[in-house]
Amino acid sequence: MGRIHRLAKERALTQSATSVSPAPRARVQAMKEYHPPLGSRDALRLDFNENTLACSPKVREVLAAISSGALTRYPEREPVEAIIAAHLALAADQVALTNGVDEAIHVLFEAFLESGDELLLPVPTYTMYEVYASATDARTVAIQSTDDLEFPFDRLLAAITPRTKIIAIANPNSPSGSVATREQLLEVARRAPQAVLFVDEAYFHFHGESVIDLVGVVPNLIVARTFSKAYGLAGLRIGMLAGPVELMRWIRRVLSPYSVNSVALACLPAALADTTYLDRYVVEVLAARGEFEDVLDAAKVSRWPSRANFVLVDIGSQHAEFVRLMRDAGVLVRDRSNDPGCDGRVRITIGSREQMQKAAMDLNRALAALRAGSKTQ
Ligand code: PMP
Repeated sequence: MGRIHRLAKERALTQSATSVSPAPRARVQAMKEYHPPLGSRDALRLDFNENTLACSPKVREVLAAISSGALTRYPEREPVEAIIAAHLALAADQVALTNGVDEAIHVLFEAFLESGDELLLPVPTYTMYEVYASATDARTVAIQSTDDLEFPFDRLLAAITPRTKIIAIANPNSPSGSVATREQLLEVARRAPQAVLFVDEAYFHFHGESVIDLVGVVPNLIVARTFSKAYGLAGLRIGMLAGPVELMRWIRRVLSPYSVNSVALACLPAALADTTYLDRYVVEVLAARGEFEDVLDAAKVSRWPSRANFVLVDIGSQHAEFVRLMRDAGVLVRDRSNDPGCDGRVRITIGSREQMQKAAMDLNRALAALRAGSKTQ
């Protein structure tokens, strides 16, 4: 019997036996599809808040030295966890490396959120919190920022209930670039002792303020850091969680021992050690942000103050056309109009000064085209 003939027969047999197909959990069926625009990005990438230049040359050296034999082995996470813990003045068992902060969020939510629980989420914020929460049986309680997009501190405190299980705060936040103060975070932790206060410091390097020193001191605080942003390692997928040992125990139960690949683990110590490279990149971005903000102000584009490597701007009803014009000019920016309270707003990642000078020229041209177009209508 030919292969095609046999497969057709087997298909017919199984189809007559089952008229239904396997159904995923109801929660999964109800999940929204989320497809970030990761395709066709050979342009100036001001859309995903990545490092827009390169990782440290020291990391390149490690990459070049990885043998094919080394790739045959399963990765060993613990020695690198000890290195990063020492780097952050934490104990090794307070730290878990993850496959990007995305996995950290997923694992944290899987470990703590169950039916009847509530996730408190100041919005707008990073999309994946809601995506992963929607796969659990917990309820997400969104706390909308006012138009200034500042951290909604008082409303967040007022929303805490005995059912609150996780409070997720990106600090600095995306897409707004706003921050919560250390005092505010401490007060949130104090007011919800039954909940994990999850502080996502993905953009820490551009802000310079952190609560990671409070790990193990504040019993319900868990902090995340990523190597996708300032360190320029988004493609390696590596991030981390730091928290008190009693909480990290549960995280480790859910976290796969294999999820961080050996190439990422090999590169991490070199990335951590090259503080000169990191500092230089951050200084460059902060200078570029200042210059670009001046360009926005001169162009009379409203913007929100940012403590991160991006700026949220208000383009208004022509946001989609603006993003298209920028793309045509070779600059990718991110339309955040679908984020709660963000209609007409576009997020622009800050790269080097040279890159932002190009972006500024293209922005001015795009705005001129839009303004000319709206006058003739
Ligand atoms: N947290 C925040 C606030 C982010 O903006 C992002 C990336 N867009 C992430 C986490 C994801 O980080 P990672 O690449 O480590 O998964």
